[in-house]
Amino acid sequence: MTMQVQASATDEALVERIDRLLPQTQCGQCGFEGCRPYAEALVRGEADIDHCPPGGDAGAHALARLLDVEAKPYDRTRGEYRPAIVALIVEDDCIGCTKCIQACPVDAIIGASKLMHTVIAPLCTGCELCIPPCPVDCIVMQPAAD
Ligand code: SF4
Ligand code: SF4
Ligand code: SF4
Repeated sequence: MTMQVQASATDEALVERIDRLLPQTQCGQCGFEGCRPYAEALVRGEADIDHCPPGGDAGAHALARLLDVEAKPYDRTRGEYRPAIVALIVEDDCIGCTKCIQACPVDAIIGASKLMHTVIAPLCTGCELCIPPCPVDCIVMQPAAD
């Protein structure tokens, strides 16, 4: 017999709170298609808190606190933790082609055609998807500010 589980408003609110703790790189190392599907699996009780390498041990502990379960380090077999990075456009070299804007999944780049472009660092998830399309290689990754 299968049981139909309907998401309640409370579940949705919890998914939202978990999702906000996740790094939003959408890398899939947790075994889900992105951060939100992982958050949903956590709420359904179908995933453990240790699945996210980009969140590191601090992220796993934050999830444990939120879900009131025992803390544990993140699962090293899923990937390596590395400190957060963000994209930076070397503005003097930018030719304003807009290709990076089209590649950015979170709209973290602003600029208009033929004008220099800028990354809004707090919005950047460090996914690096803007790097390959840039025809003049003027986007570099750097450590995120704390
Ligand atoms: S491993 Fe972490 S950052 Fe990557 S998709 Fe899963 S929850 Fe998001
Ligand atoms: S790395 Fe580039 S594409 Fe990815 S979020 Fe940052 S600005 Fe956008
Ligand atoms: S892809 Fe490179 S050259 Fe084109 S707008 Fe973006 S940063 Fe500038």
